[in-house]
Amino acid sequence: MKPKLTFLLTLAICCGTLSAQETTGALEFQFGERAVVAPRFGTKVEVVPVLELVGAEVTYSQAAGAWGVVLGEHVLQFATGHKVLLVDGTLHEAGEAPVPSPGGVAASLPYVERFLLSPLGLRLEPIAGGYRIEHGARFADPVTIRPAVADFGTTTTLVLTLSRAAAVTAVEGPGGTVEVRFADAAPQLDTSAPFRSRRVRSITRHDAELSIQLASGIGLLSWRSLDDPPRLTLELGPARPTPVPAPVQTLPLGDSGPRPIVLDPGHGGDDVGARSRDGLVEKELTLALARRVARALEARGYRVRLTRDDDQTRALTDRTALANRLDALLFVSLHANASTAPSVTGAETYYMSLDGPSDAAAAATAELENRAGQTAGEPTALDLILWDLAQAEVLNESAELALAVQGRLNALAGTRDRGVRQAPFVVLTGATMPAVLVEFGFLSNPDEARRLAEPEHQQQVAEAIAAGIEDFVGR
Ligand SMILES: [Zn+2]
Repeated sequence: MKPKLTFLLTLAICCGTLSAQETTGALEFQFGERAVVAPRFGTKVEVVPVLELVGAEVTYSQAAGAWGVVLGEHVLQFATGHKVLLVDGTLHEAGEAPVPSPGGVAASLPYVERFLLSPLGLRLEPIAGGYRIEHGARFADPVTIRPAVADFGTTTTLVLTLSRAAAVTAVEGPGGTVEVRFADAAPQLDTSAPFRSRRVRSITRHDAELSIQLASGIGLLSWRSLDDPPRLTLELGPARPTPVPAPVQTLPLGDSGPRPIVLDPGHGGDDVGARSRDGLVEKELTLALARRVARALEARGYRVRLTRDDDQTRALTDRTALANRLDALLFVSLHANASTAPSVTGAETYYMSLDGPSDAAAAATAELENRAGQTAGEPTALDLILWDLAQAEVLNESAELALAVQGRLNALAGTRDRGVRQAPFVVLTGATMPAVLVEFGFLSNPDEARRLAEPEHQQQVAEAIAAGIEDFVGR
């Protein structure tokens, strides 16, 4: 696309600006393997060599007295003597004007970076004798959208992860499309990670909108906007009416220091979890154990945060949201198991599965734990709506963490090894760091429940989990 200079024609009134004539040295600009030396005029620098260095096409319109810069889909237009410029069609007030120079046009370094390089996704980093031009704009702050798709039996979850928070909505569009609209930002689509789906044909961008082409007969079932990281989760499946977006709770922030290990005591508040014959409830046991693991880890020099430190109800998604917001090193969810067969005992460690549970027992455990925090109704595949593939990127590390923790639990006398398993746990889905769920024993077995109630045994289990975590971190 060629720059349109019509707008600037209307501005081409001379303002008697000073021009840059006498050089006061030069600055070297580096970009990748290439470099250029640009003459300097006091606080200003020759602009054209810098723009050409990064591969931009720079043109000058004699009639308009204006410069046009094209790189990829970006178009910049500016004129000497004018404080306003056009960046991708939007008028900006720069607070200063470029000036004529022997090479054409000169501008201050802040102007060059803020208005000419940032819109191209670039920034200046000072080096000896000049600047290095790096990718990653300091000012422009565009929203980049990275799509990820997971097909399930009858539904598909599409997650659009945004590079920053932005006001966004999703609506059904014409011809089997879903339109994702951005209120205050022009989205850019990250196509570096291609996806494969039976139900999503393509995703394309038109200005401030993404258009998602669905396979025939597929519609938008629901969507949610989530934080940490900012993302839009769309549930797609056989068309049905009335999508119901749900509100999302968030937890308070206020944390700094080294990356913490986040321990998640399962259940809490109204959600008691499993219960032993003697009345021992999972929510109390998980909290007691989490506090012990926390103390054991702190004694080893780690920073630890709990998703709850009292008897409160916490949504499953809020638990990983907290871990993400704290940029946690690890996320470990602690649970006690229950089986309809009272003879079943032992400890097992889970990590997220992309393909569903590894076996029927894993499926049953996942279903049990996923029910926590659900409002009503039977858990179904749709309850995994918050699946968002955040875990997919760290799945191998999660598997290693699960092996390390399970290995230490196996060394505990009298605890049967039920191994490392995979299942689609809601509480793990949104975690962007290695995440596991430890089922440290069965409350449905009377003997194991009695042992788990003993402080000495709790301490042994806690020490084992802490040691497993340390094995992983120090691997
Ligand atoms: Zn549980």
